[in-house]
Parts: sequence; structure tokens; C-alpha cells
Amino acid sequence: MKLLVADDSKVSRMMLSAITKQWGYDVILAEDGEQAWQIMQEDDAPQLLLLDWEMPKMDGIEVCERVIAKNPENPAYIVLLTSRTSSDDIVEGLSKGASDYLSKPFDSAELQVRLQVGKRMIELQDKLNATLRELTELASHDGLTGLLNRRAIMEALPKEVKRVERQEQTLCIGMCDIDHFKKINDTYGHLVGDEVLKEVTRRMEDSLRDYDLLGRYGGEEFLVITPVDNVKNGTMVYQRICRAVSNQPIEVDDLSITVTISCGVTSYSPENNEKDITKLLAMADEALYKAKDAGRNQVVLYQTE
Ligand code: GH3
Ligand code: MG
Ligand code: MG
Ligand code: MG
Repeated sequence: MKLLVADDSKVSRMMLSAITKQWGYDVILAEDGEQAWQIMQEDDAPQLLLLDWEMPKMDGIEVCERVIAKNPENPAYIVLLTSRTSSDDIVEGLSKGASDYLSKPFDSAELQVRLQVGKRMIELQDKLNATLRELTELASHDGLTGLLNRRAIMEALPKEVKRVERQEQTLCIGMCDIDHFKKINDTYGHLVGDEVLKEVTRRMEDSLRDYDLLGRYGGEEFLVITPVDNVKNGTMVYQRICRAVSNQPIEVDDLSITVTISCGVTSYSPENNEKDITKLLAMADEALYKAKDAGRNQVVLYQTE
């Protein structure tokens, strides 16, 4: 684990560096508070710090404050080294963000165990952060395809409506559904069906632009949200998706399966009336039914009767 050691006394620095290296730390040295703060602003800065309190240019307490303020969500573990021993000083040091302190002259065995506590805390914090990231991903993404799940795409939709409103654009909302997917499952089995779903997803993703949104709305049904200049361009996006899916058969094991999708598309633009999300989705759904009725593998744009 990386350890930043900041001390203005060369003798202390060398001594601290030698013993902490012996304990297995990857030691980075700073000669004063300013240098320590510089190092802490770099990418991948150490999370475990051993700071002398009294240092020229910037003292250990100020480094402490800055380091904690920079990343309060994921605070570094800071041990202050000080010859000050009054309880006021200790209160000040710990209230400015230090996690621990050690009075000089210190006992090296005590320093070793205090650093170990810091190391444990940081490892624990890293583990918690990783778990949190995983949970966040799981809560908003679909496990099979990795796409946004229904909840996440539904949360994104009103935000996109607001965005195109501000930017005076048009938003196309398309419901895309794999044709006769049940037959694929019935013929080749559910596992092959899963692989087909994944490949259809990849092909759809590849034919979209960075700012388009794709989510798994239901089993084999996807919601594609795309901001465009006009509806005609929007329709072309969906035609491109349809072609990308059907162009080449999907290979699973030694099977070669031709898959098509149908898309029902509606649009929202600031000057055109409807912005109720439920109604917009119902319109896209109605257009999807028409696409299915008209023979599938096609895009149908919602039209008012
Ligand atoms: P249509 O062209 O009218 O849409 O016909 P379809 O067969 O695609 O539609 P239907 O709604 O009858 O069947 C959808 C099937 O999708 C039924 C369901 O078991 C299957 N399905 C839904 N989610 C998954 C999944 O995650 N994996 C697999 N393998 N199948 C799924
Ligand atoms: Mg000093
Ligand atoms: Mg289907
Ligand atoms: Mg369906």
C-alpha cells in the first residue's frame, strides 16, 4: 500500500522512510506540506498519510484539511506526528480530519500498529466502495444484456423529454421487439434464446450513437430513445437498427439463426402537444402492433387517425 510520509526534517524523513519500507509500504516522500499537497492532487494518490504537524509553507493540519475537503466521500487515513501533546492540540488535529496522531518521540512498534489500523480501514473502505458500485450497477442494469433496465430507462425518459425541450430538438421514442422470439426459444431452447438476445442487443448498441439511450423494457422488448433534428432522421435511426439486427444470421454454437425486430416509433417535440410519458409509450406501442401486423421486420411511425 502507498504511504505518503511528509516531514521537513531530513533525518526524520529518512528514518521514517526506512522503517515503513521495511514494513512493506510503498513510500512516497514530501519535504514540506506544499509538496505533500501537490502529491495528493495527482491521480492515484496515496490514501494512507503520515504527516508531520510543523512544516514550512503548509503545516500538516492544513494538508489534512485540504485532503479531506477534496474527497470527503472517500477520505484518506491521516496519522499526524507531533511534539504537541496538549489535549487542545489533539482536539484540533483530529477535528481537522486527521484519523490518528502520534506524539514525538514515538515508539516504532506503536507507529507500526497505528499504520496497520489505517491500512485496514482503507482496505475496508475500498471494499465497501466496490460493493456500492456493484449494487448501483445491479440496480440500474439488466443482468443478461448489461443494458439499462426498465426502471432506469423509464427514469431517463422524462429527463430526455426535458432536455429536448430546452434544446428545441425532437425526441424519438421507439419500442423495438424481437419478432417471433418465442419460436426461437421453442426451437433451440432458452439458453440459445439468451445468446440471441445478447447478440441482438450488441447489434442495436453498435448502430446507435453515444447520446441515444437503449434499455431493456421487457423480455424481448427494448426502448430506444433518440434525440434528432426531425422525425425523418429519427425513423432512419430505427431502420438502421432493424437492418443491423437482420443483416446477418446470428451464430450460436453451430446454429445460424436469422432474427428480425419490429419498431413502433413516436416522437415528441416542444411544439407538438403530447408530453405525457404514459401516452407517448402507448403511442409507440400502438405503432409497434401495426409493424407486427404489417408483416414484422419494419419500422412504423405513429400516426394520429
Ligand atoms: P412477436 O413477433 O409477436 O413479438 O412474437 P414473440 O414470439 O416474439 O412474442 P411473445 O410475446 O409471444 O414471446 C416472447 C418470448 O420471449 C416469450 C418469453 O419466454 C421470451 N423471453 C422473454 N425474456 C426472455 C429471456 O430473458 N430469455 C429468453 N431466452 N427468452 C425470453
Ligand atoms: Mg517539522
Ligand atoms: Mg416479440
Ligand atoms: Mg414482446
